[in-house]
Amino acid sequence: MKSRILVINCGSSSLKFALIDTASGDAVLTGLAEKLGLAEGVISFKHESGKDSQPLTEASHDAAMHAIISRLRSLDLLDSVKAVGHRVVHGGEHFKASALIDDTVVAEIEKCAKLAPLHNPAHLLGIRTAVQQFPGLPQVAVFDTAFHQSMPEQAYLYAVPMSLYRDHGVRRYGFHGTSYRYVSAEAARMLGKPLAETAVVCAHLGNGASAAAILGGKSVDTTMGLTPLEGLVMGTRSGDIDPGVFGYLASELKLDVNGVTDLLNKQSGLLGLSEISSDCRELEDAALAGDAAAILALEVFSYRLAKHIAALTVALGRLDALLFTGGIGENSSYLRARVMKQLGFLGLKLDEAANNAFIRGKAGRISATDSVPALVINTNEELMIAQDTATLAGLDA
Ligand code: ADP
Repeated sequence: MKSRILVINCGSSSLKFALIDTASGDAVLTGLAEKLGLAEGVISFKHESGKDSQPLTEASHDAAMHAIISRLRSLDLLDSVKAVGHRVVHGGEHFKASALIDDTVVAEIEKCAKLAPLHNPAHLLGIRTAVQQFPGLPQVAVFDTAFHQSMPEQAYLYAVPMSLYRDHGVRRYGFHGTSYRYVSAEAARMLGKPLAETAVVCAHLGNGASAAAILGGKSVDTTMGLTPLEGLVMGTRSGDIDPGVFGYLASELKLDVNGVTDLLNKQSGLLGLSEISSDCRELEDAALAGDAAAILALEVFSYRLAKHIAALTVALGRLDALLFTGGIGENSSYLRARVMKQLGFLGLKLDEAANNAFIRGKAGRISATDSVPALVINTNEELMIAQDTATLAGLDA
């Protein structure tokens, strides 16, 4: 009997899942339930036999889980599910690694919910639903923040009164850790070096975007902070901004804290700058057609990214490789080229033909032979979650 892990990424109105084979690492069945909590929930499935979607009888996480179970049963896959792995965004300082879920772990995830009010409550809902529907199966939580717990104090402390850190946990936590763990290990393999001897900067560029300095396979600094708003320009998030903006906009626009937070999270970034879209692909098309606003938005994005990559090399003391991943990192030859050019002084030189020819789904090098290597690596957070889950559930071969 094959052994497989059900990986669940539960959002407030969505539930993304993948059934991963522990031996091959392949995704046997994947899918997404959307519009949960709204009138018309829908769930889609992708399997080697094809793709399809169906409406949910009730637009709830419970109904989505029922639909997944019934699909697993009809594909004769249900009995192969040996454990469930959950993505959890915020593990605070408590979780420095993945954890086998029990009541204490659930209580700690609940405590971290104030640091990620949009995410952790949704993850808890997913955990409770899965525990109910898969009684007896081990369940594991894998945290986006855990990988960054190795950051030194000088990187994670803000220069604010220490009591805010001690009493309220105000510090930099960082996110995308599961992706960084996967990509940095892949990079070591591609570089032909033991992970412990590598010093890389990795840019994970999706709708949310961050970069991290990873020394010997451990995070030593990253661009996101207490929340995923700090750092790079993102699809709709501003990234770094003068905190004075809060007071200024409060008085200019008569906005309260939530109003300004919302503006910086949902109406800023590429969308706010371009006034066209938050989607990098659309902006790239517009930029190539000569649209000045799209060109400017991408310019601000790539300049900020290059500036942060350079700053992160301070934490490393050297640079063995620059890594690109995430939807934009894996697809946008346009942005990769801009960033590489801006970082020429660090010894990065683009191989234009390799950059333009790079196809998503393959890991590869986009730098010239006499350059510090620049690698594009397709991230695989689901595989990392499945591997941690298999290990903690004692399913490793
Ligand atoms: P998320 O952070 O939601 O997981 P993804 O990692 O899927 O997001 O990345 C989404 C981003 O990737 C979007 O900005 C999208 O436009 C961009 N992207 C996807 N394909 C391309 C492409 N071919 N060229 C440029 N950008 C792309």
